[in-house]
Amino acid sequence: MISHSILKLSKSCARTAKAARLGLLVELFIPNYTVRMASSSSEIKRQNFDYFLVLDFEATCDNPKNPFPQEIIELPILKVNGQTFEVESQFHQYVQPRVHAELTPFCTELTGIIQEMVDGQPHIEETLQSVDKWMLENGLLEPGVKSVFVTCGDWDLRRMLPSQCNHFNIPIPTYFNKWINIKRAFSDSTGMWPSGMIPMLEPLGLRHQGRHHSGIDDCKNIANILKAVAERGHVFQVTGTSVHLMTVSLDD
Ligand code: AMP
Ligand code: MG
Ligand code: MG
Repeated sequence: MISHSILKLSKSCARTAKAARLGLLVELFIPNYTVRMASSSSEIKRQNFDYFLVLDFEATCDNPKNPFPQEIIELPILKVNGQTFEVESQFHQYVQPRVHAELTPFCTELTGIIQEMVDGQPHIEETLQSVDKWMLENGLLEPGVKSVFVTCGDWDLRRMLPSQCNHFNIPIPTYFNKWINIKRAFSDSTGMWPSGMIPMLEPLGLRHQGRHHSGIDDCKNIANILKAVAERGHVFQVTGTSVHLMTVSLDD
């Protein structure tokens, strides 16, 4: 029997057909309506990680060319339980850029971050120390606790953080050396490569939350995608790693 709670009536079947190609929805046709029913695969498999740490940097930018060095201006992390996929804790800090201290109108329009949100905020070194404290307080540095960062694309941890840390001679904690690119996990699960975060939402039956290119809102959407991909039976694996010359070992 089809429960009302899982039925959505829609006069348009175009989107539904697209999603159905992905095996995400089951369709039943009645005159002028499409009955959309969530597929039964909401079984989350046992994962290889205790926690997923969803991270999304926002950084100084301009059009047509980004400033050099690019600097992180927003650093949010969501701690997501590896069994329930619920958010358990949040780190969120706006960061004051050093070299290009004035945000461009383009950057403010893109990210929603205005000058007053970064002025007087800690610089990147202090912010990374606060991340470390948050990781410690949240039990994420304890031996035997397995966690991994989750980003949309490889830019955050392969490009942005290493380039800024190299520029300012800042050691990079080793926990930033591996991550899951949610686009790759989505692709492994659905067979479709997404160009960005937004195109992953609709096929998974998700609605966009908040403001696109706000770091914290992007994290919330990525966390929703993570959970939806897990509900399709996906078991997440590390998709990216990097080795830095200047790292901070947890044993130091
Ligand atoms: P996102 O996580 O997609 O919000 O983007 C992260 C950062 O990438 C932004 O804070 C910008 O620094 C840069 N960025 C994203 N989209 C653009 C764009 N269209 N033009 C220039 N920089 C961008
Ligand atoms: Mg991003
Ligand atoms: Mg973002």
